[in-house]
Amino acid sequence: MPRFKGSGGWPITTLLARLAVQVNRVLFPVRFLILASSSAGNSAFISDGMTHLLVDCGLSRKETFARLEANGVDPCCIDAILITHEHCDHVSGLGPIAKKLEKPVYLTSATASALEEGKEAMHFRPFQAGSKLSIGSFEVQSFSLPHDAEDPVGYTFSSNGRKVGVCTDLGYMPDSIRYHLQDCDILLLESNHDLEMLKVGPYPWSLKQRVMSRRGHLSNDVVSQFILDDLSTRTRKLVLGHLSEQNNLPALAHMVAAQAIDRRGLTNIDLTVSEPRQQSSFFEI
Ligand SMILES: [Zn+2]
Ligand SMILES: [Zn+2]
Repeated sequence: MPRFKGSGGWPITTLLARLAVQVNRVLFPVRFLILASSSAGNSAFISDGMTHLLVDCGLSRKETFARLEANGVDPCCIDAILITHEHCDHVSGLGPIAKKLEKPVYLTSATASALEEGKEAMHFRPFQAGSKLSIGSFEVQSFSLPHDAEDPVGYTFSSNGRKVGVCTDLGYMPDSIRYHLQDCDILLLESNHDLEMLKVGPYPWSLKQRVMSRRGHLSNDVVSQFILDDLSTRTRKLVLGHLSEQNNLPALAHMVAAQAIDRRGLTNIDLTVSEPRQQSSFFEI
């Protein structure tokens, strides 16, 4: 029986499978929208055209739905909510949003325990940090974050060969996180503060120590070092988020990261800063 070969000697079935992946990518790009990213509120939307997810609920229900609708997203299409940790800038709108949507809420068991209020009204799906979850057409990988919450996690979302990472609220970059952020096509990464601005800024000393600690938040300098050492050459869109409004400036965060990208010689990357309190437009891959 003859074996049909395509160009380059690949079996025709392999070529057809690759073509199907490419067609699927064009028809169903992974789309990522930051509704807000700062200490005043965090929420993001991710979709591959088949499954639609909301990550964190740090805005009110009204504001979350308004920002989704302003971008052409019907909030009722959301299939599931994922929570990173119980700090109020990530969950302040969770109760009303979960009650309205009546969809599963994925979060670590310890985070669920920390969110006693209104728990019975929500469809919690607790998991262990580090678990891999299948949610619709997404494969979701959770990973532990060093941060002063009960059991905080970041996530990567993979669909059809594309990968989006969401990694904010962490005091430093352990190897485990560097590993999980490999090969992200789109990466939302915290660039919380400029160390000098934090030191001379208005925060009380105890709060400054908390932010600078290994369970606090990432500085621009740590992000710069991450770009130099470990940012994947596959990353096409790097979005800096969770900027402090007191201890950072969007232009400063952008400049520090852009210098590291230049020094690394990365040319095929789009660098964006998510302005505090503002939504982004859609990132697509
Ligand atoms: Zn936060
Ligand atoms: Zn936090």
